Amino acid sequence: MKKQTKKIQCLSETPCKGHLTIKKVNYTLKHNGKTIIVPEVEIWKCDTCGKYFYPYETSQKIDLYKEFSGRLMLRIDPKLHYRLIRLSKKHHRSLNQEITYLLENAAK
Ligand SMILES: [Zn+2]
Repeated sequence: MKKQTKKIQCLSETPCKGHLTIKKVNYTLKHNGKTIIVPEVEIWKCDTCGKYFYPYETSQKIDLYKEFSGRLMLRIDPKLHYRLIRLSKKHHRSLNQEITYLLENAAK
């Protein structure tokens, strides 16, 4: 967890003279009975009233993680499975890394 020193006036609707401290955290939430960890998001905490504020990018990322776990199971031809493993070994990557790499490039 990183702490930065930049100071922003508290955004609370009730008058507060506090300042917000920006923190990068792994944000944990419960969604549909599952625990989701959203890594490396920025949150702002008031040093006086203790309220938390979430910048736009943070809420966007949290919403994305609620909807998409990033975990999927798929069925492929065993020959393709074999070829992907061969390819991953050639590139010194795990199968997961290899498939992620290929999909990242295909889905640009
Ligand atoms: Zn405050």
